[in-house]
Amino acid sequence: MEEVKVLIIGSGPAGYTAAIYTSRANLQPVLYEGIEPGGQLTTTTDVENFPGYPEGVSGPQMMAEMRQQAERFGADIRTGMVTSVDLSSRPFHVIVDGQRELMAESLIIATGASARYLGLPSETKYRGQGVSACATCDGFFYRKKDVAVVGGGDTACEEATYLASLCRKVYLIVRKPFLRASKAMQERVFRTPNIEVLFEHNTAEVLGDESGVTGALLRKSDGSEQKIDISGFFLAIGHHPNTELFADQLALDAEGYIITEGNSSKTNVEGVFAAGDVQDPHYRQAITAAGSGCIAALDCERFLLR
Ligand code: NDP
Repeated sequence: MEEVKVLIIGSGPAGYTAAIYTSRANLQPVLYEGIEPGGQLTTTTDVENFPGYPEGVSGPQMMAEMRQQAERFGADIRTGMVTSVDLSSRPFHVIVDGQRELMAESLIIATGASARYLGLPSETKYRGQGVSACATCDGFFYRKKDVAVVGGGDTACEEATYLASLCRKVYLIVRKPFLRASKAMQERVFRTPNIEVLFEHNTAEVLGDESGVTGALLRKSDGSEQKIDISGFFLAIGHHPNTELFADQLALDAEGYIITEGNSSKTNVEGVFAAGDVQDPHYRQAITAAGSGCIAALDCERFLLR
């Protein structure tokens, strides 16, 4: 059976950065890309806030370049999905695509998180063309335009106030008659003149044409319908960390995020490290994920050298 020193699961900025560092440290990492090679960034358009790209860069291109950079130092990047892990003893027993087995001396988990979407076909159709789950990433493209944010939690309120500073008008579409967000966040929303909160509204359909999103059809709880004209449709109805594989084996918080020790990437199982959105419910940026991939690689290297 194949034995590897470092197995990295996941191919976003955290996974690729961990691969760059561990390959440069001559640890011959093997990285499995998973179901969405390149991770969440491959679903965004331009990335303008990652230092080092003064003209911006497309999400897919940035991920392709990170991958190339890791390969340049010898990282073994493979297509495949890790379908089972056994963390009860080291080396860890891992199964890929339900059949291929390998043993890993150490593991860096960088499986990320996935934004929740409503599940409407029209929402899928315009993803990346006006439908986004990240206001910080994409809000800039809607300057002086009208947009909508769906959700009633802290993220939705934070994104709505952020977008209100850029956009002409922001509709906040909330399915309940109240916001779930903290009082301070709610007050900020209510104080912002260009945010209109539409309570007890659900989205029936995202409307658009070949240029992208042009509006949304909303349905109120009494059955009445309303159409709003918007260019951007932002989802802020939560994320879920991709930790199903580790559910009974690693310490997870109430939301399912991997708990790491202090400022390190160490999980509660020796030799298992976590990096990026899978352990970060707060910042969720490409640059923070890349930074935490570096931390995981250094922690892993120290662990193996011990
Ligand atoms: P939350 O789970 O808190 O909120 C999700 C929101 O989306 C809720 O209002 C929920 O509605 C709504 N929602 C869920 N599914 C649907 C759906 N299908 N259709 C319409 N609406 C839907 O997620 P957040 O991302 O806002 O926050 C996650 C955690 O992070 C929280 O603990 C939050 O406090 C924290 N956070 C803190 C921040 C800060 O302190 N600055 C900033 C951002 C997040 P309903 O209420 O009806 O369930």
